[in-house]
Amino acid sequence: MGASIKLGSIWGIPVGVHPSWFIIFLLLIWSLSTGYFPREYGELSLVAYVVLGVLTTLLFFASVLAHELGHSFFALRNKIPVKGITLFIFGGVAQIAEEPKSPGAEFRIAIAGPMVSFALAILFGIAFLLDQQIPYLAAPSAYLMRINFILAAFNLIPGFPLDGGRVLRAIVWWWKKDFHKATKVASFTGQLVAFGFIGFGILSIIQGNFLNGAWLAFIGWFLQNAAAASYAQTNMQHHLQDVKVSQVMDRDCVRVPSLTPVSQVVNDQILNGGQNCFFVADNGRLLGMLTLRDISQIPQQKWGFTTTAQAMVPANRLVSVTSETALLSALQTMDNAKLGEIPVLDNGNLVGVLSREKVLHYLRVRAELKV
Ligand SMILES: [Zn+2]
Repeated sequence: MGASIKLGSIWGIPVGVHPSWFIIFLLLIWSLSTGYFPREYGELSLVAYVVLGVLTTLLFFASVLAHELGHSFFALRNKIPVKGITLFIFGGVAQIAEEPKSPGAEFRIAIAGPMVSFALAILFGIAFLLDQQIPYLAAPSAYLMRINFILAAFNLIPGFPLDGGRVLRAIVWWWKKDFHKATKVASFTGQLVAFGFIGFGILSIIQGNFLNGAWLAFIGWFLQNAAAASYAQTNMQHHLQDVKVSQVMDRDCVRVPSLTPVSQVVNDQILNGGQNCFFVADNGRLLGMLTLRDISQIPQQKWGFTTTAQAMVPANRLVSVTSETALLSALQTMDNAKLGEIPVLDNGNLVGVLSREKVLHYLRVRAELKV
């Protein structure tokens, strides 16, 4: 989703806002303080409406955060790390690092968010009933009750990537014992739901309700993209399920001695040899790995008197896999370490390198041969 602005962390999970969040934040304050609160109260000053609008909006986003923490709580309980929680224009998202390992875990993680929202709707409903005598609290409570209810109900629509889609996937997975098939079903209903939103949006626009219509269509477009992307990803995972690193890795990776100047590597191997990843080794002993990214971090005028040993990532800091590692888990390792290439070591001996490019190439070949 791109960079987000970090606000803090809860349970060790970084919490941030995406720049697009400010649009919805201001829009909500504006709509509450010029529409909802004047309609409810009518006799207050503009400042009072804006203060009520800001406080209610903040409580709404605290509710969204609580919803995401609901998902995160059960992810952590199932030993699945949560990379972060981000608020953005369509609400919130908890980036759960891996797919749950069982339908039960998937179900609990997915349902927890809407359950938190339902609980908040009930709490704000009770607050609404209790503060009838305190006029400034009644309208915000009523609003927060309604919007939390909508948040829960909307998220339970059974189409990927909504929580309801995950619930549906968990049920089909548990019933058919087939994760891939379950993902197919949930992605398919997700796309149906998305097209439904787009259709409704266009219909509303035709009927003259431009803003609501455009918003619905926009949500539909977002859902359609997310459903298609998640399908493509699980489809790829399905195809790569039994593939091992040894089937994809590069075996003839270039080795360079530790005292070679970087400028020589650039001239001889990169610009004239088409290589982009090197092992720094002396007498067969691996000292480290050198990639284009390492080289680009050194100012060009220093390439002549920087050795490969100075520019490389030393072997003891290298994350590695073995040739027997499953490709998917190797990709996960690369992803976590933010690496484009990873060395393949068997019993401490360098046998090759796995790169993202190689994986893409492998996928293209398989797609071409339809195998
Ligand atoms: Zn959710």
